[in-house]
Amino acid sequence: MRKQGPGTKDSDLLCHIPIMQDLMAARETFWINTQYGTAQNNRSRQAMMSAKEILAAEKRLQRFAPYLAKVFPETRPNGGLIESSLVPIENMQRYLESRFGVQIRGNLWLKCDSHLPISGSIKARGGIYEVLKLAEELTLKEGLLTTENDYSILADPSFREFFSTHTIAVGSTGNLGLSIGVMGSKLGFKVTVHMSADAKEWKKERLRSEGVEVIEYAFDYSKAVEEGRKQAKEDPCCHFVDDECSKDLFLGYAVAGRRLKHQLEELNLWVDSNHPLFVYLPCGVGGGPGGIAFGLKEAFGENVHCFFAEPTHSPCMLLGLATGRHDQIAVQDIGLDNKTEADGLAVGRASRFVGKLMEVLLSGAYTIQDDELFCLLQALHDTQGIQCEPSALAGMAGPARLLQSTVGMQYLKDHHLEDKLKKATHIIWATGGNLVPEEVMRGYLTRGK
Ligand SMILES: *Cc1c(COP(=O)(O)O)cnc(C)c1O
Repeated sequence: MRKQGPGTKDSDLLCHIPIMQDLMAARETFWINTQYGTAQNNRSRQAMMSAKEILAAEKRLQRFAPYLAKVFPETRPNGGLIESSLVPIENMQRYLESRFGVQIRGNLWLKCDSHLPISGSIKARGGIYEVLKLAEELTLKEGLLTTENDYSILADPSFREFFSTHTIAVGSTGNLGLSIGVMGSKLGFKVTVHMSADAKEWKKERLRSEGVEVIEYAFDYSKAVEEGRKQAKEDPCCHFVDDECSKDLFLGYAVAGRRLKHQLEELNLWVDSNHPLFVYLPCGVGGGPGGIAFGLKEAFGENVHCFFAEPTHSPCMLLGLATGRHDQIAVQDIGLDNKTEADGLAVGRASRFVGKLMEVLLSGAYTIQDDELFCLLQALHDTQGIQCEPSALAGMAGPARLLQSTVGMQYLKDHHLEDKLKKATHIIWATGGNLVPEEVMRGYLTRGK
């Protein structure tokens, strides 16, 4: 499996990769992707995923909008679409400047997926999309529905009865399970969630209260997915939502690219060769940030620059990309423990499928310590009155880290971005938090202080 020359130890080979020392020592680090923008993979990228498929996913979500508006009243203001607001965070920008001692040129915005309806996290994009697509496929096949129908009929008891003969299973650190569980059981599916040891107690309780079966593991995310996949295989009426390689999840996330484009237009925020867009996304296994980055690249091309953020103890995507080994290497292989309070990011081995797609699309990635996440969580609450879970703050350090690191500055120089920074838009993708119980949030805020 590993490529090794005669007489060279694997660890010796890895040590030649500059960033490896930092990763192994769980030090905060910033990495620029040297393969970014190289064209040779473009063809294979397009073969795997196309703009046409993203459009089809967007249309499918529109078909379901009347149903969602009916069964989830909180989606009504947006006509049954699951979308979040984009808000300016000037006070936080000033805070970051003084905290990190760097001027952040351009404007800072927060993309509030933390407050997406139904499940309060980024997983409300991909996870719910995959469940809806399955529901559509099953009912179309049985002739119970046509794509011309008003999908609000899916709320009828007869459909719930039909779906109750099917099971959906998923392995999760928490939020994906929450999205699949809430959406699946609303439609009438039986849902089984295989939870990793990192999953927060309140997420499991919430699911059980929705009638979802929660199976707990003493191991991390990769194991929970593996077990879930194995058990699901034995049941022909079971659909397994495979977070490590699902194209449907990915497409559900990718729709965000076109949606953001409209949102920016409505706010009169320009993105073009003189107005660069920088986006900072927290990364776990990769599907969420990868899908969104893919959608953004389709929407904005070379004018958008995407960076992933991971905990210092779980930098699986950065490790996979920097070594070129993707899922053939785990953070445990370089001596890290994959232990982080950022439960949404507690993943030791990245998705190969996403890593391969990101090889030429991702500008860079960085790692951040847990303590830092709590400080930023508390600061966002103090300066803007917005509450997020720890994972969601990983992107917040992005602009400062880009502008403070030598390789980051070199990236800006290489892409002729230095003079355009004052016209730049920086978007921090806040990925979760709205469902965090009050007393848990109080604990987070106290730790931040
Ligand atoms: C899942 C999750 C992420 C990362 O998404 P992946 O698809 O695992 O990379 C980030 N933040 C939160 C809050 C999440 O739940």
